[in-house]
Amino acid sequence: MASRIVGIDLGTTNSCGAIIENGEAVIIPNSLGDRITPSVVCIDEEGDVLVGKPAKRAAALNPDRTVFSIKRHMGTNFRVNIDSKQYTPQEISAMILQKIKWDMEEYFGEEIDQAVITVPAYFTDAQRQATRDAGEIAGLNVRRIIDEPTAAAIAYGIDKEEDQILMVYDFGGGTFDISIIEVIGGVFQVLAIKGNNMLGGDDFDQRIVDWLVGDFKEEHGIDLSEEKGTLYKLKAAAEQAKIELSQAQKTNILLEAIAMSDSGPLTLDVTLTRSKLENLIEDLVESTVPLCRQAIEDAGLTPNDISSVIMVGGSTRIPMVQEAVKKVVETGARKDVNPDEVVAMGAAYQSELLASLDAELEMSAGARMPEDNPVIVHLTPFSLGVGLVGDQFGVLIERNSTYPTEAKDYFTTTRDFQTAISFPIYEGEEQVASTNTFLDMLRIDGLPPAPRGIPRIEVTFRLNHDRILEATAKDLTTGNEVTVTVVATDNRLSDQEKSRMTREARNRITKMLEQRVKETLYNQAESLIFRAEKMIGDSDDETAVETRGIIDTLQRALDGGDADQINGQMERLSDQITKLEAAEY
Ligand code: AMP
Repeated sequence: MASRIVGIDLGTTNSCGAIIENGEAVIIPNSLGDRITPSVVCIDEEGDVLVGKPAKRAAALNPDRTVFSIKRHMGTNFRVNIDSKQYTPQEISAMILQKIKWDMEEYFGEEIDQAVITVPAYFTDAQRQATRDAGEIAGLNVRRIIDEPTAAAIAYGIDKEEDQILMVYDFGGGTFDISIIEVIGGVFQVLAIKGNNMLGGDDFDQRIVDWLVGDFKEEHGIDLSEEKGTLYKLKAAAEQAKIELSQAQKTNILLEAIAMSDSGPLTLDVTLTRSKLENLIEDLVESTVPLCRQAIEDAGLTPNDISSVIMVGGSTRIPMVQEAVKKVVETGARKDVNPDEVVAMGAAYQSELLASLDAELEMSAGARMPEDNPVIVHLTPFSLGVGLVGDQFGVLIERNSTYPTEAKDYFTTTRDFQTAISFPIYEGEEQVASTNTFLDMLRIDGLPPAPRGIPRIEVTFRLNHDRILEATAKDLTTGNEVTVTVVATDNRLSDQEKSRMTREARNRITKMLEQRVKETLYNQAESLIFRAEKMIGDSDDETAVETRGIIDTLQRALDGGDADQINGQMERLSDQITKLEAAEY
């Protein structure tokens, strides 16, 4: 039997795994029972890796060992330095993928080794290749890389009969993406994409932090932004407040002993109202409106042509963001789509399509595309070409071309008896080649000496399903050819590096088992705290005060992460609950 293929949304802030069961997309909860897992990694002194909520929790105590938003660095030569070891973005992402894979394996009780992973539509080839490498390091055969907005459109549109034009408004923690997607007879075609990959919910948090830091400095003359641990605490509190304000009109930010003054510890205690938050972030939210209008225009449409708006990403829960969307499309967004889960669900539908193709391949020699499954038509967001004489950009694949695709062009030598030609490969829209993004060098040697203009070199660009480019140069005189698979050169992982990382990732599995035990402990502790808090309510009698003291100690033990201490404090709280129950009785 063909093995299971899962869908994974590898997000900047949160990640999520899904699968199709009985024709429906199902989100697989992690070992803590949560449907999404924070994309946060913490590596401790022993090299043990924490992923998800426990890592996020540990951030304030281990600011230099905790990695957030690694997705922003995919495809670059950025390195995370922990204990003089350097980790590539691929390795850190692999840790997140491994955690998702593990949780799914636990759920199904079988090995999962194949996945469809989603990436932002704006991801370049280098970023896509890095995502593929991350999957490989995590022990996953990445069957397909698909764009997040397309995945969202598939999840929403798969069971709808009528043809539609969808606007996918994706506002996450780190990026903003807008896509216009046409669905005709089960075919999904991306008509236009726009975005800002430097805008997200993190920027809202930062605005709140700046405001808190500014006020605190004014009042106490102390700059809270100078210490990394304090900054993490501020960021976490700011994010929490922002999230609460999507429901409430005001919230309190309370951070005890956040700094020391000559007269003792200082507390930050501030009320943040929804209107103040809106004031702080208005320009950022507003900046998405013209991008939406531009995308609609690029697609050759007007706002009235949009049948539905699909919201993706946590930041779309902010009321002001929902209002901004109404400025573009009057009817606003659909309310029946879960913005945190829809992308993983779309990836799962795509996995199902691949699994059914596999099954058909197993049964018969020739595979046929199942008719009731989505077919995706993608557009390239950048032009791809080579640098020519005079730094001109010779485009082979135009921007907004559908892919997979193939294009050829022919070139010759510029000097007599020239025996080699180098073609720098770029992506971008500038006519001066070198001002575009350099991807790789395609070089052909061994041309038979001939006067200039005589040799004929055929250059072929093949862009596959995952938008990974294969470039070939062929000397038509000798038939010699060279091929490069294009990834930005300085960021490419060698096969050797990849196998080392895969080995290390496998070794981490044992450690992850230990983590699982720890997580169960955290879960139990949290439900104990919840029970105790419920029992004491806002009472301030002696037992309630005593209980609160024990809760605080347990919280500190949880932050410290020492299992023995947590167990000890849990026992104390358990006894206290028994005492409370007895008193109640
Ligand atoms: P994503 O990258 O899609 O997981 O989105 C994560 C971003 O959404 C983070 O910046 C979160 O703080 C933010 N977020 C999550 N839930 C909410 C909410 N209810 N209100 C406002 N922002 C939220």
